[in-house]
Amino acid sequence: MKYDVIIIGSGPGGYVCAILCGQLGLKTALIEKYDALGGTCLNVGCIPSKAVLESSEHYYNAKSKFAMHGIHLDNLQINLQEMITHKADVVKKTGDGVKFLMKKNKVDVFYGSGSFISPTEILVKANNGKQTELETTRVVIATGSKPASLPNVSIDKQRIISSTEALVLKEVPEHLIVIGGGVIGMELGSVYARIGSKVTVIEYYEQILATMDKSLGKELQKSLSKLGFTFHFNHKVTGVVSQGQNVTVSAESKNGEQVTFEGDYCLMAIGRKPYTAGLNIEAIGIATEKGKITVDENFRTDVPNVYAIGDVIRGAMLAHKASEEGVYVAEYIANLRPHINYLTIPNIVYTWPEVASVGHTEEELIANGVDYKSGSFPFMANARARMNADTEGFIKVLVHGQTGEILGIHMIGPRIADIIGEAALAMQYGVSAMGVSNVVHGHPTFYESLKEACLNATKKGAIHI
Ligand SMILES: Cc1cc2nc3c(=O)[nH]c(=O)nc-3n(C[C@H](O)[C@H](O)[C@H](O)COP(=O)(O)OP(=O)(O)OC[C@H]3O[C@@H](n4cnc5c(N)ncnc54)[C@H](O)[C@@H]3O)c2cc1C
Repeated sequence: MKYDVIIIGSGPGGYVCAILCGQLGLKTALIEKYDALGGTCLNVGCIPSKAVLESSEHYYNAKSKFAMHGIHLDNLQINLQEMITHKADVVKKTGDGVKFLMKKNKVDVFYGSGSFISPTEILVKANNGKQTELETTRVVIATGSKPASLPNVSIDKQRIISSTEALVLKEVPEHLIVIGGGVIGMELGSVYARIGSKVTVIEYYEQILATMDKSLGKELQKSLSKLGFTFHFNHKVTGVVSQGQNVTVSAESKNGEQVTFEGDYCLMAIGRKPYTAGLNIEAIGIATEKGKITVDENFRTDVPNVYAIGDVIRGAMLAHKASEEGVYVAEYIANLRPHINYLTIPNIVYTWPEVASVGHTEEELIANGVDYKSGSFPFMANARARMNADTEGFIKVLVHGQTGEILGIHMIGPRIADIIGEAALAMQYGVSAMGVSNVVHGHPTFYESLKEACLNATKKGAIHI
């Protein structure tokens, strides 16, 4: 069989690329080594984690917030297995949707592990041993990433777990020790803290969400501390041992003190590493740097007809970043003129309060000596937030000191994951802070706070503070 494009890996990078290739009239095949399509995002990442975040949030609100609205519940219970069944159902339905889209767009799907025989020949080894050779003009590598661990720690998947196991636990941990204060650790830590676990976070840096605007991690830390999280910053984990139902995490503090933490589960959440195992890329001359496939500005690898996108290349490990790159490559192959603006890719943390960012951080502007002005607005001053009793957090808008151009928007608060869309749109199309504030925003809404923060970044100043 001869294809115009073969895509290896069916995550949000690969399957979106496949759909668009099909729509652009290219004869397309998609290879996936697991039985389910959708990759990390759909099966063990974005979708299942947000499903359990949603369920645990309902429980937590029922337990801790309903009473202030005059709602009193007796005998409130959480059933972890039912919560996980709901999550599995969402994953299954979403995966079925992806399968349907492959069919609709005439993409041939091959289940099995794909590897290069040559730059134009791909071998698919199915789990039942069946081997199929496919011929193609172009290949897109979209093989994603796997959980990373520390060199001296092995994830046993029982007590020392990655995010994948954390999404299918059989019991609520009594004490979950989370290694890493990044997005995955804060989200999954929140799930278990809300349903009764004691959560301890051990972080190498001096704060959580260390790669985002520093103000966000500091604010989220306050909220998560109220939820019951304990944080240990500037701690380097030196080992994790599991024995029976216990785990012991050893760490060294900044001043050289050796400390140990005892829990019943340890979640390794230090990040993810690109995944290229079994592809045989070395044999055809595709280079990698620190495990990531190197690509040019059009996502071409060192082999001209082979492209790579998503988590397996440089840049943020985000589903929407992978998908945009998939769109780019499909359009590039079809001789269109695609474009991606990496500066306006939003970064979102689905804790409560939610956290989101787009553009430059304040630390970046300071480091680069940029003339900037900051305007912010607290949710405490937002009427909708007060009626929902969700007053934690703020929106911060960073604008150029002379032109008013928006350079970055950083938010923590209720429904931020959706409000960031307006911020990204404004930045993408060069709308100034004044321009955003001139748009009539509905009242009472959470997103009015963005208008107010923008006003505060202009000479006018905010109205409600
Ligand atoms: C717990 C968790 C929560 C997350 N939440 C979010 C979120 O809310 N928002 C967000 O934007 N991102 C989130 N992410 C990150 C997101 O999942 C990834 O950035 C995204 O899935 C990357 O997409 P991809 O297409 O590059 O690769 P992947 O989704 O990793 O897909 C790669 C696919 O390639 C397949 N594959 C690998 N090798 C082969 C081979 N040789 N042959 C055939 N198939 C192969 C794999 O089986 C896999 O299905 C989360 C990740 C985790 C772990």
